[in-house]
Formats: sequence, C-alpha cells, structure tokens
Amino acid sequence: MRGEPSCPKCGGRVRAPGLFADAWQCSVHGQVHPMQPVVPPSVEALGVVVHRTQVPVWMPWPLPVGWLFTGAASAGDDRSGGRASAVACSGPGPLGGMGELLLVAEELGVGLGARYAGIEGPDPGHHLNVDSAPDAKVHAAGRPTPLWHVRNAPEDRAVFAGEARGLWLWAILWPEQSGLLMYDELVLTDLRDAGGEVDLVPCGALTPRLLTAPEAPPRQGKSER
Ligand SMILES: [Zn+2]
Repeated sequence: MRGEPSCPKCGGRVRAPGLFADAWQCSVHGQVHPMQPVVPPSVEALGVVVHRTQVPVWMPWPLPVGWLFTGAASAGDDRSGGRASAVACSGPGPLGGMGELLLVAEELGVGLGARYAGIEGPDPGHHLNVDSAPDAKVHAAGRPTPLWHVRNAPEDRAVFAGEARGLWLWAILWPEQSGLLMYDELVLTDLRDAGGEVDLVPCGALTPRLLTAPEAPPRQGKSER
C-alpha cells in the first residue's frame, strides 16, 4: 500500500504545498485536505487519528455485541490537523450475515463522506429531505441526533447523514439491509472523550471499504475492452 497522502474525494495523487501553492492540490479537485495513508486497525492507529483530529471521531461505543473496529482514516495535514475522520466497524448484521458501518465526521467541503457514500459531493445537503421527519436517530456524545436517509446512493449500501457537534455526520452501512441498525438508537461516542477506553477497542482486519477508490465516472469515447 502506498504510504502517501491522497485526495479525499477521488483517491488520486496530491501535490504537497510548495512555492506556488500553500495547500495540498489534487489535479482534479484543486485544494484538498489530504487523506492520510490508511493503516491496519490497532489501538495505536486509532490513537493517532484521535490525537491529531480537529473533528469528532465517532464510534458506536459500546460496540454492538460481536462487532469489531476495522479501520480508521482521516483527512488533513500536520498543519491543519484532521478535518475529516472515518471509523469502520463490522459485525453480525441485523438480518444475519456480516454488516459494516462507516461513520464519518467532517468539515464542510472535505468530501470524504460523499466518497464512501458513493454520491456526488462534497456535502450531503441537497441529497437530504430535511423538511420531512428524520429517518433515524442516534445518540451522539449524549445528544439525540436526527439523521436523514441520503437519496441517490448506490443500492448496495444505506446512507444517512445529519449534524453532530456542528459538523456533518455520515453513517454508511453495507449491505443495504444493515441500515436497520440505525433504527435502534445507536449510541455514538466521540473517541476524543473516551480517554483510556480507547485501549479496550477490539480490533478486526482492515476493511477494504476504506481503501476503495470511488467508482470512476463512465468513460467517454474509449474503445471497449
Ligand atoms: Zn481529487
């Protein structure tokens, strides 16, 4: 795996700040908060994300029975700190089989949540029908937090979004039926508040979801293979 920062929106290469630019640049997306290399899940790796973040690092805590932490990602360089965080967990799904949950907290415009949600980003706003009653509710850092279903997401996943601690909170679940978990008033902890409890997080294998680049837009005018 490449140990280099990448674009949070497309997974592409980014150019470090230099003489002519004071921010990281993606050739497609312009200025971005670079996504840091994803490392295998461990208490130490999670600690690194928690210590440098400027945004919440949400995890269902306590974890549902049988669930494991399966990786964390963040966007933002050493100067800015983490401006987006993603935490993945996996375990028995509500209807049998394995379920996966990815929670993303981010500032406006970072685009990490939209990338994993599989929708056009960078923010969920116009994909939400906030005039209707919320579709789900979680307890985030002790506060009841309404979430709305994100329309237009690919059919293999369920996507919800709302606002917690003044920032976007995304919940992305695979397969789509695992979205039922969100109707269970899940309790989310900002791991910045968890102190030594982070040492107790049970770790599984790294989920490929965190590494998957977004699906490329349809190519035009290229020969078929
Ligand atoms: Zn990009």
